[in-house]
Amino acid sequence: MTPDLMEQGTRRLQARQDKDMQADGSGGRSAAFARVATPGEVDVTHGRILYLEDVSVSFDGFKAINSLSLDIAPGELRCIIGPNGAGKTTMMDIITGKTRPDAGTVFFGSTIDLLRHKEAEIAQMGIGRKFQKPTVFEQLTVFENLELALKTDKGVKASMFFRLDSAQGDRLAEVLHTIHLADSVQRLAGTLSHGQKQWLEIGMLLMQEPELLMLDEPIAGMSARERELTADLLKRICKNRSMIVIEHDMAFVAQIASKVTVMHQGKILAEGSMDEVQNNPQVIDVYLGH
Ligand code: ADP
Ligand code: MG
Repeated sequence: MTPDLMEQGTRRLQARQDKDMQADGSGGRSAAFARVATPGEVDVTHGRILYLEDVSVSFDGFKAINSLSLDIAPGELRCIIGPNGAGKTTMMDIITGKTRPDAGTVFFGSTIDLLRHKEAEIAQMGIGRKFQKPTVFEQLTVFENLELALKTDKGVKASMFFRLDSAQGDRLAEVLHTIHLADSVQRLAGTLSHGQKQWLEIGMLLMQEPELLMLDEPIAGMSARERELTADLLKRICKNRSMIVIEHDMAFVAQIASKVTVMHQGKILAEGSMDEVQNNPQVIDVYLGH
């Protein structure tokens, strides 16, 4: 979840608690946040939506990312694999502005220099990120979680009433269907299964219409059936955007990836089709052979 969303959710819960104290019993739907309709303009005319070149970062002298370069094309579903500690999560931290690299270039499209922006700004520009652990608001319903994820203008007074407009309502319905939760609209998120919470969080990201969506180990802890449904879900949602998925499950990666990148010791070890990386002796040596 993005820092922005976290803050909004906390405010919504607070608004509801304030309301409950007034004992008017009308629920928390009137918490007021205005929405910004325009998605970020990303220039992809040069054929790439994300571009990293020679990026390095050290933690206490240890090079977690070491001269890493990466290119993601519009519409691509890239899977990132590699042993624990390879730097996969740190790479996402750098793209999303959570960690600043010591050196290198990170561009969103050909014009937006991500190293000049803060974490919250980067999320607003259209880069959605899901951390490994699901972070939904357990005390809100599925509907309220999705509604909350719509872009907000934090400057607007909390006294204004928010209602979904018809386009937003349509989008919410579509997302509910996509994430297999159309029958659970009014359920509290806290009562969902682990897999359903992961889908809800993906849904919350989709409400924000990101042009680039990044997921860190989305199927960890899911049942076999949930994994199958997730593969199907990711293949459908990548039709309108680029995606980067970090995942260890090779069968899952084989199902969804358009291209696979293998990371090792903070850099790229191999890149190509699933067949190519699976048959690469170095990849077998450091990762697949274990
Ligand atoms: P992966 O996601 O591929 O398993 P990570 O990106 O989480 O790998 O970690 C890469 C290396 O960087 C690990 O050795 C980890 O301990 C280290 N690391 C990551 N983030 C930090 C941090 N904020 N401070 C210190 N060390 C870190
Ligand atoms: Mg990781």
